[in-house]
Amino acid sequence: MFNTLKPQAPDKILALMGQFKADPRPTKIDLGVGVYKDATGLTPVMRAIKAAEKQLWETETTKTYTALAGEPAYHAAMAEMVLGADYPKDRLSALATVGGTGACRQGFELARMANPGCTIWVSDPTWPNHLSILSFMKQDYKLYRYFDNASRSVSFDAMIEDLGAVKPGDVVLLHGCCHNPTGANLTLEQWGVVADLLEAKGAIPMIDLAYQGFGDGLDEDAAGTRLIASRLPEVMIAASCSKNFGIYRERTGILMVLTDAATRDVTQGTLAYLNRQNYSFAPDHGARLVTMVLTDPALRAEWMAELEEVRLGMLGLREALAAELRQLSNSDRFDFVAKHRGMFSRLGATPEQVETMRVDNAIYMVGDSRLNIAGLNSETVPILAKAIIASGA
Ligand code: PMP
Repeated sequence: MFNTLKPQAPDKILALMGQFKADPRPTKIDLGVGVYKDATGLTPVMRAIKAAEKQLWETETTKTYTALAGEPAYHAAMAEMVLGADYPKDRLSALATVGGTGACRQGFELARMANPGCTIWVSDPTWPNHLSILSFMKQDYKLYRYFDNASRSVSFDAMIEDLGAVKPGDVVLLHGCCHNPTGANLTLEQWGVVADLLEAKGAIPMIDLAYQGFGDGLDEDAAGTRLIASRLPEVMIAASCSKNFGIYRERTGILMVLTDAATRDVTQGTLAYLNRQNYSFAPDHGARLVTMVLTDPALRAEWMAELEEVRLGMLGLREALAAELRQLSNSDRFDFVAKHRGMFSRLGATPEQVETMRVDNAIYMVGDSRLNIAGLNSETVPILAKAIIASGA
């Protein structure tokens, strides 16, 4: 039977990681995989997480099953972090998931259960996994234009024009902050326009929030999400703790759903049902650590301080790279690097130019010219800037 299986196309970013590992050049620079790295190239366990793990090891008395949808304390701590302290408790359902990926998957499943004929609208470009999950599910989706390759900023008029075709009950997937792969984000004013449009259309926003705290700050990065949540009657939010808590392999995420209060209980029950059908309980270890960090004032302060170090470090690298490129190109055409937010920027280089940088300079970025800013340090910024100019990008 299994000889009927066909080889699957390898994940491009994971394939790039393999290529990087095999490159013997000591000067190689990895700007590919979407993982935060400090100046020494390490993805550290955050200090507050380490402390919480120690505390948990000392105090945990059982590892029996927890609630199918995850612990209510985790739901509450995450809802407060994402939506603010005054979130509408009577309208919120929540589900602990296997990372942010699991939250996206369960959100798509929920949408399909509620409205089997819906179309899911996705930004062009987006995180490739959105598209591959939707294709695997045989779920209808459409792309809306998002990025202007000339200015390397959001092509907002085109986005609004495309979303004009959204039907009632369709789902519109939006990146809450730090858009992956472009780094180009909506202003709060633009979020307001999107909210007006979706409200008028009767569409359901689904916000993928995978980098809260990596852009302009913890609250600032949730501002668009909070605006949408305050305006629309029904909203889905798929949040990941992988990046902002540095717990990638613990697989910690959450799907939050806002409905009217009368629909809340059946929604919550459906979410638990979805976990049951797919894998039963989501991993608990990461969710428990996140709850401890968010609810213990000392751990929370330590975590926020480290998250801020991470955020400011990436902003500093952005500014240094933009300044270097301004000098070398004698123009302001790369200033977008300093304006983008989060871990990624789409450079706008051609696949050939990206390949030239790999062959000539051992610089690895994704083929669409997405580069991970956190892969740089003060020594490699000038090397990258020279390589970008030399490639003709
Ligand atoms: N959404 C986006 C846009 C992402 O970039 C990622 C991580 N690459 C995720 C969701 C999910 O992350 P995870 O499953 O590792 O929590």
